[in-house]
Amino acid sequence: MKREITDLIDRVKADCLVGKPQKRDTIIALLDLEPGSQEYAYLCRAAREAAMVITGKEAYLWGAIGVDFAPCSMNCTFCSLGEAWGIVNHEVSYSEEEIIQQIRQYVSCGVRFIVLRTTEFYSVDTLCQFIKDIRAQVAGEYELVLNIGEFDVQTANKIYESGVSGIYHALRLGEGRDTAFDPAQRNDTLNSVHRSPLKLIHLLEPVGMEHTSEEIADVFLNSLQHGVVISGAMARIPVKGTPLGEKPQVSDQRLAQIVAVTRLCGGKSVPDICVHPPSKEAVMAGANVVVVERGAVPRDGSVAEELWNGFDCQKAKDLLTECGYEVVQKRDQER
Ligand code: SF4
Repeated sequence: MKREITDLIDRVKADCLVGKPQKRDTIIALLDLEPGSQEYAYLCRAAREAAMVITGKEAYLWGAIGVDFAPCSMNCTFCSLGEAWGIVNHEVSYSEEEIIQQIRQYVSCGVRFIVLRTTEFYSVDTLCQFIKDIRAQVAGEYELVLNIGEFDVQTANKIYESGVSGIYHALRLGEGRDTAFDPAQRNDTLNSVHRSPLKLIHLLEPVGMEHTSEEIADVFLNSLQHGVVISGAMARIPVKGTPLGEKPQVSDQRLAQIVAVTRLCGGKSVPDICVHPPSKEAVMAGANVVVVERGAVPRDGSVAEELWNGFDCQKAKDLLTECGYEVVQKRDQER
């Protein structure tokens, strides 16, 4: 094993535990290690050790509900919902009663972060009304998160007032190249979240073989500048019929490596690290949040009536506890 690499990883881990940020070159050097190498294994071990300290061995479930299975005119080249790909051949939009029923199930099985995910132009006012009703009707320890389109700071404040604690939003890898969005527009929404009381959740996604370490590092640094509190990595799942559907998925090791880098270089200001799809490799490399999801899934050509890929709450809990975590449910402390 190369001494200069292990020294670098040791230094980054020590910085992580005292909250010191890393430079772009350092992040790229860690992302450039060969997945599966001894240095990679050392990186993952360091990230796991840091995770155990920073999280206090607490892990959380993320439960997503894809609210609307509908063609989306933004046509992101990796998303099954893109109108131009012709994959969505019927529309489904969950009613408030259906959403509340699904949320009750998530709460009863231990999910902390419940995420309502929509296509780009779904009505924010409708969602805010749902949120108020959910808060009134579903008691328990959980937080509500939205993953929606673009919005300004006034809307961010309105979303927060309705009972939402966080927003999932990302400058995606390949934004503006693999999507029709202007990256500046995505950053405007990240700024809106940053200037509001909402927490920002921003994974590095959708990671594919096509993304360089430089591009991944730049998107990560951009998310840190916007105050991300939950980071991590999500793989691009090749969906047949989408323009990127023939390009293979990244390996579990590459995804775990990116997870390890977000853990070590996010430090204390990013206490929670998520991986999707889940793997033991990534949880042993610093991830403490895993995702269960249902409904409209941009990684799938049909509505997931049951939990996507058969990964349910029990499997999620088993994975996290097997890796030394205690799965905890929490209410947003600031509310
Ligand atoms: S990723 Fe989002 S914005 Fe892009 S096509 Fe899919 S639903 Fe629309």
